[in-house]
Amino acid sequence: MPTDKPFEPDLLDPEAHVRRAVEEIERGEDDEPARVAEKPAVGEQASGSQGIEHAVRDILTEIGEDPAREGLLRTPERMHRMWLELTCGYRVDPDRLINGAVFDVGYSEMVVIKGIPFYSLCEHHMLPFFGTAAVGYLPRGRVIGLSKIPRVVEMYARRLQVQERMTQQIADFLQGRLNPYGVGVVIEAEHLCLAMRGVQKGGATMVTSSVLGTFRSSKETRDEFMAHLERAVPRA
Ligand SMILES: [Zn+2]
Repeated sequence: MPTDKPFEPDLLDPEAHVRRAVEEIERGEDDEPARVAEKPAVGEQASGSQGIEHAVRDILTEIGEDPAREGLLRTPERMHRMWLELTCGYRVDPDRLINGAVFDVGYSEMVVIKGIPFYSLCEHHMLPFFGTAAVGYLPRGRVIGLSKIPRVVEMYARRLQVQERMTQQIADFLQGRLNPYGVGVVIEAEHLCLAMRGVQKGGATMVTSSVLGTFRSSKETRDEFMAHLERAVPRA
């Protein structure tokens, strides 16, 4: 192995790496600089953290690869770091994410934010599914800072998921935190476990929705939400 190997930023300590990812979701990229935790939380000690790396080596061997060949030497480390990052939503503290950004207002018209990109992993195959989320709610005197909603999506996307549950979790979270008249969430996603395997190759999009409160009980509200979703995003 060459001793003068170039610095690889993706070879930082996995725990530091995942704490940074969690901070990004909790605080947002344009909030004040992230406070990187000084010490690992209980249960995050380095001991035992090689489990993912051992498992990846086992998988490589089982599929007939040689974990010792040069191109694969660091794959277990990279996978360790990557899996922690892609599932860091488990560690996000929703209170830190909200961080006072719920405001009392007189506004009572529907709020819609759509085209929120996300990447998640299906829990059946641990392969990506990805697409966009649209979220709407009808405030009952309380609104949440707009930049928070994509991060709520991120908190639930960065876990092992099924699309239906993720849709429901986002709706339930906003219903619980804002107590609005109603919430609607629509997610459109492509699943690589479908696209890459078998005969069903490519392109199939799955749409899931969750509607609560007046989004469920009032056709008028639901129609207004759907009309917002159909409207093309204005071009800059
Ligand atoms: Zn799957």
